[in-house]
Amino acid sequence: MKYIVVSGGVISGTGKGIVASSAGLLLQSKGFVVTTIKIDPYINIDSGTMSPLHHGEIYVTDDGGEVNLDLGNFERYLSTTLQRGHNITAGEIYLDIISRERTGNYLGKTVQVVPHFTNAIQEYIERTAKIPVDESQAEPDVCIIELGGTVGDIESSPFIYALAQLRKRVGKENFVQIHVAYVPVVPPGASGEQKTKPTQRSISDVRSAGLSPLLVACRCEVPLDPGTIQKIANMCSMEPEQVISVHDGSTTYHVPLLLEKQNLLGILCEYLDLRLDRTHPRIE
Ligand code: ADP
Repeated sequence: MKYIVVSGGVISGTGKGIVASSAGLLLQSKGFVVTTIKIDPYINIDSGTMSPLHHGEIYVTDDGGEVNLDLGNFERYLSTTLQRGHNITAGEIYLDIISRERTGNYLGKTVQVVPHFTNAIQEYIERTAKIPVDESQAEPDVCIIELGGTVGDIESSPFIYALAQLRKRVGKENFVQIHVAYVPVVPPGASGEQKTKPTQRSISDVRSAGLSPLLVACRCEVPLDPGTIQKIANMCSMEPEQVISVHDGSTTYHVPLLLEKQNLLGILCEYLDLRLDRTHPRIE
């Protein structure tokens, strides 16, 4: 199993879900079986009791799960059928751990965030990643995990820790992270300057939290200037190819092509050692 984690920084709503779905679509176009997981670090068990004003409308999965709207995006982009378990929340994991504690499953041990909560996160991810999600009913090759919230939030930190542990366990050749950051234009408009500082700070936050993104996808209202790309690369010790520009479009369906033009598929396949010529039975 190959894991692609899509995290976000600076502010929420920068387009992690769209980048995750688009990366999945590109991999699918080469015949790989792709599944998706959305992690929500909040303590609600699911979206069922949440106001639509906070996180958008509830999305209902085939098995009746009331889940985050992002699962709808995944299903529409990738033509998959997800289950309630594809939306992992902190609340659900805590509920599971506390029920196990009440029934004495921890045999008198002190139950802690590390290792019990963080190990449970990894178990949930690895178990869910294997569930077939498309008509081929094949075990997925690639699991794309969208980490909700922004890196640096207190509630995200156990998940970051767990993902860093997962990376160590599965090996770095099976784990890639794409960090989505925001590049504001100040003042807004054609004469504005693309500001890279929030992206630089955000990359530094992710690294200090124990992860190391291979790529930074920068959401900006306009395409990133070559100078902006070079500056982010220099300041974050990356190559310019690792900085991907995701500008606003009239629909989000331009994003897969935008990513493809910047060789996202080539980079992912090379790093994860996914063979591009693989033919899957679903592809003619
Ligand atoms: P996040 O997962 O980071 O919260 P989403 O992927 O849900 O963000 O996107 C937030 C909003 O921004 C959605 O309404 C989405 O349609 C829109 N959006 C995302 N990427 C783009 C883009 N490149 N151009 C225009 N709108 C976008």
